[in-house]
Amino acid sequence: MHLKKHLSFSALRKTLSDRFNQIDDFRQNGKIDYPLHDCLMSGFAMMFFQDPSLLAFQQRMQDSIEQSNLTTVFSVSDIPKDSQMRDVLDLVPPQAIEPVFSDFLNKLQRGRHLAHYQFIDDMYLIPMDGSEYFSSEKIHCPSCLLTQSKKGKLRYHHQILQPAIVHPDKRQVLPLAPEQISNRDGTTKQDCEINAGKRCIKKIRKAHPKLKIIITGDSLYSKQPFIDELKKAKMSFILAAKPKDHKVLFQWVNELFQLGEGGDLKFTDSKGRHHCYQWINTVPLNGTKDVDDVNFFQYQIVSKDNKVTYRNSWVTDFIIDQNNVVMLVKGGRARWKIENETFNTLKNQGYHIEHNFGHGDQNLSYVFLLLNLVAFYVHQILDLTDGLYQTVRYKKFTSRKEYFNQLRCTFRIILFNGFEHMLNYILDPPMVRAP
Ligand SMILES: [Zn+2]
Repeated sequence: MHLKKHLSFSALRKTLSDRFNQIDDFRQNGKIDYPLHDCLMSGFAMMFFQDPSLLAFQQRMQDSIEQSNLTTVFSVSDIPKDSQMRDVLDLVPPQAIEPVFSDFLNKLQRGRHLAHYQFIDDMYLIPMDGSEYFSSEKIHCPSCLLTQSKKGKLRYHHQILQPAIVHPDKRQVLPLAPEQISNRDGTTKQDCEINAGKRCIKKIRKAHPKLKIIITGDSLYSKQPFIDELKKAKMSFILAAKPKDHKVLFQWVNELFQLGEGGDLKFTDSKGRHHCYQWINTVPLNGTKDVDDVNFFQYQIVSKDNKVTYRNSWVTDFIIDQNNVVMLVKGGRARWKIENETFNTLKNQGYHIEHNFGHGDQNLSYVFLLLNLVAFYVHQILDLTDGLYQTVRYKKFTSRKEYFNQLRCTFRIILFNGFEHMLNYILDPPMVRAP
């Protein structure tokens, strides 16, 4: 089967190894039992197969036949014990792992896969969305967010802001490096998320200086200071704008619509639903002096029996007309892809992002989150580009759960010389008698 070599599992794993090998070992010489690479790669392997017992099984294989899949598939020379791996990962600075996300994106670009994600005017749509990946009343670390309930109960939690390149017509999402939301960012939940958002914008621009970008986000972000940050970073935007957050804007818009200004587009689909688009260019974002003008659009779906089943509104820097309004709405609505196809998958479909793999005293919780996201990213790339992976995943198994069960079982007990070797085996396993 034809494989694009630079995007095969082995090539992606090698990119990961190269990145891990570049991280300075922060440990004192006398105390080093296992190479940093091996600890990070073992953590990645656990996430890749979504198997918390992976290290123990590979150690058993190693003891029994003097080799293991961790060596042949993941290039781990020495299998660390679970607790040792956690101790080491706890000390890894998370920023050292982040460049992996751009390494993979650059590979997709070179393989001409990224171009398929161009949305409007060869620009890429990047929704950003916040999510909580850990919560506890007991376990905590110095980077935990701390909130107190009305009854005085303390809760420790971790939140990230996750950007990803998406296309409304594509199933796979391409995550960029996330940004931690920190207590130092402000006193309110909004401050915290907006400040993390500003850092995130700077980080994306630094990692991808030439990428043409449209940022989409919820109503929290359609504020002047955030739009200033986007302009500085030369990024376009499609940001949700809700009436409760934008009273002045909606006054303007509603009055202008009543005067017959702006444009509209309506059609009825084959199911009898009415799709209504309305827009107006050049309206003030809010009532303060020197505020930017923005372009406003809204969209609603009305069912056959006249019930509004969906309604939303956005502001953008694109000049809106009847030729682009449908696409702009698709862009604004693509934010759900992060919620649905990234976070939902990570939380509920086997990745157990909220599961406590170990919290650590420093960075462990976030390092595991990053390794989990990197594993998710590799699955997304293989799903997008690798014929053998697609065949095994979709022709052989109907559910993700069944597929991962099979991967885990096979990986635990049979030695392979690489991941492709393993996929070929699963595709057509030889029948054997138990010894
Ligand atoms: Zn913590």
